[in-house]
Amino acid sequence: MNDSFAICNVNIISEDAQDGLLRGYNVVVGTNGTITAVGPKQHTVVPQNCHRLDGSGKYLLPGLINAHVHLFSEGKPLPELLTGPTFQRAVSSVLHSPIGTLLSKHRAKLNARTLLLSGVTTFRTVGDVGYEAVALQQQIDKGKELGSRMLASGPLLAITGGHGSPQIALIGDSPSQNRKNARINIMHGVTAIKIAATGGVTDARRIGDAGRPQMSEEEMAAICVEAHHAGLLVAAHAQSPLGVTMALRAGVDTIEHGCAMNDEIVDLFQNNPLSLRGWSALIPTLSAALPLVKISQDITGVSDIVVANAHIAVDEMVQGIHDARANGISIGMGTDTAMTFVTQYNTWRELALLNRFGGLSPIEAIHAATQENAKILGFEQVTGKIEKGFSADMLLLEDNPLQSWNSFKHPELVIARGKVLMNPHVTRFSDIDQQLDNMQQ
Ligand SMILES: [Zn+2]
Repeated sequence: MNDSFAICNVNIISEDAQDGLLRGYNVVVGTNGTITAVGPKQHTVVPQNCHRLDGSGKYLLPGLINAHVHLFSEGKPLPELLTGPTFQRAVSSVLHSPIGTLLSKHRAKLNARTLLLSGVTTFRTVGDVGYEAVALQQQIDKGKELGSRMLASGPLLAITGGHGSPQIALIGDSPSQNRKNARINIMHGVTAIKIAATGGVTDARRIGDAGRPQMSEEEMAAICVEAHHAGLLVAAHAQSPLGVTMALRAGVDTIEHGCAMNDEIVDLFQNNPLSLRGWSALIPTLSAALPLVKISQDITGVSDIVVANAHIAVDEMVQGIHDARANGISIGMGTDTAMTFVTQYNTWRELALLNRFGGLSPIEAIHAATQENAKILGFEQVTGKIEKGFSADMLLLEDNPLQSWNSFKHPELVIARGKVLMNPHVTRFSDIDQQLDNMQQ
């Protein structure tokens, strides 16, 4: 049980208001962690025994939702060890040893905590070392651990030599092997499934490899059937028109990163007969791709091949966002935390990038990261809105985020399922932040 409290006389960020602001509102939160009343202060009574927080001159919005998270690293440049071919197997065997498993658990917990304290009250992992995120979600859902609302994928599903393998993947090379790997993940209690449909920027060996199709349509379709039978959504890492088309045809529910769209891709997003709900969504991750092309290689430490592939990925992704927006395709928000320069506390920067490079207005970017992501992840009845009956997942900011993205840097309060975290503090990497500040300009 939480204490009942109210945030009084606050400005609520709302797409329903003309300038995006509902002024002078009261929001009342009940002991069960849900919002019990929202309205203009003169019409919204705050019960007598309820703790009052003064929201005058401040800005309240739904907690952020990050649909593309990894918990295995803090986001400093990935060491060559993890990305280079020579040591991949050695790193993988250390990661999966008993001590590696303990370290992954510990790291996942710390990184999940950072996400929460930075205002991310809901997130989905899409590629874990083992089942450390699944275990964490179970602890949180049972109320044994304070944390964000989660979906957890466990290891992603990839082909031999494919993206993410062998460190964070189960490997399969036929529809039946991939079906089995999906079943193994489901047996371990995952709440999301992730596929590597194409190669990726971080582990590509040649220019052009990042978008090269890896898993066959038949293999992906087998995975989708198993996942959908279990009621789970399937996310696919896909960075080229061919890779995206194959993944959508197989029934994938969310395309991670994305590409420029042709008519077939647009049609498949809007009406995808093999997906769980009949439509698929795009989760761009500009936060992962842009630093590799905008920040000097001396600083990021990545190879020429990574930079060349990142350029291709950025161009595809940016065009994909514009095409999705022009065609009314559902656009969510993810950052790909744990990748080079994608920290666990900078989710809000993706909104700034969607605004600057993706053409979304500030309120559209906030919509993607809250209400739309809630719908995409299946939480549309639970979170993503400040409305009566919704979970009290909220963020109180000192300045208007519609005017300055930097207001997200230091939230005054993070509220998760009605639990109030006062003056939330995270450990920052000032060198990374400095570079990202410059990139956003
Ligand atoms: Zn990722």
